[in-house]
Amino acid sequence: MINSPQEILNILQQVPQATAIYDNKDLHIAYVNQDMLDMWATTDEVLGTNLGDSFPEFETQGFVGILKKVWLTGETYRAHDVPANILLDGIPTTFYFDFEYRALLNENRETYAILHTAQEVSSRLEAWAAVRKKEMQEAALNEELRSSIEEQRALTEEYMAINEKLSTTVDELSNSYKQLDFALDQSRRAKEASNLGMFDLDVQQDILLWDERCKELFGVPTESDVSYTRDFVAGLHPDDKQQTLAAVKHAFDRKQSNGRYDTQYRTVNPAHGKITWVHAVGTVYFDEQDQPIRFIGTVMDVTESVESRKLLEDRERKLQDTNEQLAATMEELTATMEELTNVNDDLATANIQLRHSELINAEVNTNLQAAFEKLSISERRLNLALTSAKIGIWEFNIATEVVHWDERSRELFGADEKEEIPYQVALQYIYEEDRQAVADAISYAQNPASGGYYDIQFRTVDESGNRITWVQAKGRAYFDGENNPIHFSGTILDISDRIHSQQRIDAFNRAIAQNALEQRLIVDAGKIGTFSFNPITNEIIINKHTRQMYGFDDDDDVTATDLFERKYTIGDIEQNESMLDVIRENNSFDLEFNLRTTAEHKKWLRMVGSKIWNEENNNLMAYGVIIDFTTQKMEEKRKLDFLGIVSHELRSPLTALSGYLQILQVKSKALENDKFYELIVSANRQSVRMKVLIESFLDIARIGEGKLRLNKTEFPAHDLLSNIEQMLRQTVTSHVFDVQIEGECYVLADRDKIEQVIINFINNAIKYAPAGSTISITAKRQQSNLYVAVTDEGAGIAPEDQQKIFTRFYRVENTYTETVSGFGIGLYISKEIIHLHAGTIGLQSVPGEGSTFWFSIPSLTIKE
Ligand code: ADP
Repeated sequence: MINSPQEILNILQQVPQATAIYDNKDLHIAYVNQDMLDMWATTDEVLGTNLGDSFPEFETQGFVGILKKVWLTGETYRAHDVPANILLDGIPTTFYFDFEYRALLNENRETYAILHTAQEVSSRLEAWAAVRKKEMQEAALNEELRSSIEEQRALTEEYMAINEKLSTTVDELSNSYKQLDFALDQSRRAKEASNLGMFDLDVQQDILLWDERCKELFGVPTESDVSYTRDFVAGLHPDDKQQTLAAVKHAFDRKQSNGRYDTQYRTVNPAHGKITWVHAVGTVYFDEQDQPIRFIGTVMDVTESVESRKLLEDRERKLQDTNEQLAATMEELTATMEELTNVNDDLATANIQLRHSELINAEVNTNLQAAFEKLSISERRLNLALTSAKIGIWEFNIATEVVHWDERSRELFGADEKEEIPYQVALQYIYEEDRQAVADAISYAQNPASGGYYDIQFRTVDESGNRITWVQAKGRAYFDGENNPIHFSGTILDISDRIHSQQRIDAFNRAIAQNALEQRLIVDAGKIGTFSFNPITNEIIINKHTRQMYGFDDDDDVTATDLFERKYTIGDIEQNESMLDVIRENNSFDLEFNLRTTAEHKKWLRMVGSKIWNEENNNLMAYGVIIDFTTQKMEEKRKLDFLGIVSHELRSPLTALSGYLQILQVKSKALENDKFYELIVSANRQSVRMKVLIESFLDIARIGEGKLRLNKTEFPAHDLLSNIEQMLRQTVTSHVFDVQIEGECYVLADRDKIEQVIINFINNAIKYAPAGSTISITAKRQQSNLYVAVTDEGAGIAPEDQQKIFTRFYRVENTYTETVSGFGIGLYISKEIIHLHAGTIGLQSVPGEGSTFWFSIPSLTIKE
């Protein structure tokens, strides 16, 4: 059993014939055995190349063309004795080949490979040429011999004529004999030249004459006399004896052969057993009674030619065998392939069947399961019903029109103790609105067209008319042979609970629908854009307002990229991240961005939403709304502009005012009026506060316009901190300060603005932490940064407010902060200042325990 292509190749390697396989139309050499490689006078480096590329000479000699044609047509090409020039050490040398290009076809009758087998036949041709040459020589000799014999015949006839005429004279006879001898002599000479042996048998006298060559062929010593029986008959090869003697016999029969003798046999040398193939040709001469008198002919050694023919035949046979073997292998291969395909097909079919039966099984199982479930449910119900006697049983006597109710039925109908009630009375226990429908259903059940089925829901009402019960009545009418109803009975069940809960569900659904409608109306009324976004699949769903806001048409394809791949702003400053990143990375988002709708117009949009797990698609979906707040934004801008202008306008008079106050303070000291001095000091303090405030407002305006500039100098931060500590200890008595300045730290920064940030942290701590509590201030070098932190023991800040307090005008609203004045701008400005210094700002806070506000900015390496 052949298991693998490699084994097939191994088999092919054993084929005693030059073989190559090409497996594409470019004649890619997929396989070649050593015999072929020898024939091509190359090595296996040609394996894997294209024939034409490796042997350009085959292209020019037309073989490549033939092969390509075989590939295209699928028709096998055979040729014999074809000369081919093969490069031997670069010299073109002609060899002769028998070859076959066999196209191997797939089931679609397309070529998938060409099997090239070849045999070098140069030596066979040579052998043939030799045979042909010998034959020609032989023919020439025979021709010569025939003419001599012809001549001889003429002489004999003449001799006969003379005999007949009885005028035979010895002279004439001897003359004739002489002439005959001459002719024989001539032919003898001719045969000597051609290596032919000669025999001459005087049939009547039984005298055999063999020349030297003839004796040689029979292995008889030159000097011996020969005899027909001893030498000729005994010298024949046992296998050829019978046939040869038959040939002689045939020649002796004038009628059959007219004396022609032409045969081939083997002789066996009695001395050493050497076998020689002999071709013998001769003529028998007869007397008047057709009795043979003389038998003369030639013999020739044809061993070589016979053997070479034998060899050829042998080779051909082998070739044939190989071809057959190959064909058988191919057939086997094809059969195996077919078998494999069949097996595959079978497998596939089996699989499909299996799948199918699995599916059917599964379906059957599900059905069974469902059936079981139903069964067990109904069983359970039945049990329940029976045990608690919740199902009523009734019977309608069609003949007497009397209804029979059991106890439970009576209970459900709110009827008194009577078991048997006339039908018309029974109907009265049915709620008026439902009564007709029940009566119709009962009469329809008695109609054979209904199949006798009765199934209806209706309300019963008791005698007092107060208690209404929802029931489900089911029953079956049976008919006699003439389709007359004979028996009608069934059950009745209280379904009030079910109906009521259904009613509740309906009401609830209505409410939900109403709610959804209202929501939609709200969304529509407020022109609120909505979207849902699946961050995994990038799918989005948007409403018409979102489309309108972005300026998309109703039929535009809108993608998540269109919607979210854009920058957003904080304050008025555009952020580097895109909204898409923010939405992907956060659980909730609140983003402002602007859309340029036309060259002049910008629209401000705000996108607010969060991620919610969607049970249906098992994904964390982002849902959000988009609102157009251009108007508010413009309003805000106007306010900011106004604030900027006012602050700007206030600054000059305030500067003048505080200048005067300072002069007044100095002068008033000299007046030694303490009260008056105190007032001036206080006015001065207020004017300083006002200045600080106005500076802050101006900072906000500057930030909005991107004009907040730093005035950087190199300074020792530890020094700044020490100054602040000193100032605090002198001026603030409400809180306890714990200041830790660790080591020295130099920075290249705007000293005033960094001071402003630290003071802002401290002021907030004072403002928002109870009097008497401790405020800790830490300053240190942390890696290559200056790190400053202010920790208080105040109320702390709720997590949801922690990011927001750094935005403009944001103030936490609670009872505590309400009592503290402020504008919600200090932290906003601080954040901008720290960001301009390429630093970070943040806070840690536990509500109820206190907060730590910190920042860090790059520091300089410590100066020596
Ligand atoms: P202002 O203090 O003027 O309102 P800020 O920008 O400095 O403005 O602070 C913003 C808000 O942050 C404050 O209104 C307050 O609610 C909160 N906040 C700031 N610092 C603290 C603190 N140390 N403890 C508690 N809340 C604080």
